[in-house]
Amino acid sequence: MSAGFSFQVDSKIQDRLGRTGEIQTPHGVIQTPAFIPVGTKATLKSVLAESIKDFGAQAVLANAYHLYLQPGSDVIDEAGGVAKFMNWDGPTFTDSGGFQVLSLGVGFKKVIAMDEKTFQADDVIADKKERLAHVDDDGVTFKSHLDGSLHRFTPEVSMQVQHQIGADIIFAFDECTTLHNTRKYQEKALERTRLWAKRCLSEHDRLTKERSNKPYQALFGVLQGAQYEDLRRKAAQDLGSMSEDGVSFDGFGIGGALDKQTLGEILRWVNEELPENKPRHFLGIGEPDDLFVGVENGADTFDCVAPSRQARTGSVFTKDGRLNISNAPHKREFKPIEDDCTCYTCQNYTRAYICHLFRSKEMLASTLATIHNQHFIVGLVDQMRKRIKTGEFFEYKKEFMGRYYGK
Ligand SMILES: [Zn+2]
Repeated sequence: MSAGFSFQVDSKIQDRLGRTGEIQTPHGVIQTPAFIPVGTKATLKSVLAESIKDFGAQAVLANAYHLYLQPGSDVIDEAGGVAKFMNWDGPTFTDSGGFQVLSLGVGFKKVIAMDEKTFQADDVIADKKERLAHVDDDGVTFKSHLDGSLHRFTPEVSMQVQHQIGADIIFAFDECTTLHNTRKYQEKALERTRLWAKRCLSEHDRLTKERSNKPYQALFGVLQGAQYEDLRRKAAQDLGSMSEDGVSFDGFGIGGALDKQTLGEILRWVNEELPENKPRHFLGIGEPDDLFVGVENGADTFDCVAPSRQARTGSVFTKDGRLNISNAPHKREFKPIEDDCTCYTCQNYTRAYICHLFRSKEMLASTLATIHNQHFIVGLVDQMRKRIKTGEFFEYKKEFMGRYYGK
């Protein structure tokens, strides 16, 4: 590991891969496991940077793809990096843009035809949907979702963009597949991702040297392989031991095609193979039950847009499950969303008021609901961390799950 970045494991869950630890970055420390809120465009939608700190988040994850298109990663470089640009005094992550360039193009619900539950295909595009991305062995050509202009991401471009954005933790450019791709295609994509990972390491090393006056950025390799155990284990072995001119990954991101039923198993496969002394980020996970499974199986950090996205529709977390605060029964509830919640929203506002804001479409509705939801999910993972340290992880899981899901 290089200057300003390190990771150490503190304690473990007995007979499991789950652990607590500490990631040191040039912009501060992240106690793990931790939930990292998503600020796609260098803003956590509807809340101030001060609120992010206030509700307890330790870091923010932004999207390289979005920031490259707007305002342009060169602008963020000029501003002094994404943390300074958004007035966030703490660690930051950026994802590689791989998921976005591809999800807007060749896969996923909004583009791919999903009529049949069991079909597998590599080139099935839904009616009236235009393919916005094309993958080849060198990179991805895609159309901007903003203005239709044509762009190209290669592993080198992704590294250049992420170095300009300047987050503490950045990710290698990968080909993100879906569960609907054929096994043959998964193999091909995995090999492509492996070769791209090597190119990312080389370019990252070159840029780190060229920009030696900037804070060190840690590069995480991204593991694909969909639902296949042999492919997932191979990806973990390949990237876990990969070294280009003595440079290896500082950590790993587990991404791509997985569903609720298999995510724990997939995580276990890869974490059994990965070096123990490097942090692992589980990309795109944010539901409480998935977070428990993720922590238990050795993920150190998580990110997901869900807590904020759900908040903006009025869907708020409580220990007894989610409720929609805009529904009529809450119109006269002059108490907080949760009585014992210590978030700014619950300390100062009632369900009745927030219900009124949603029903009258006031902007403050999103702000207050987002603060509560983020506080809830960040706090949930914080509790998991505390309970691992005291040896009570499974007791806590049982207690929380029993109440939240009523089972
Ligand atoms: Zn609250």
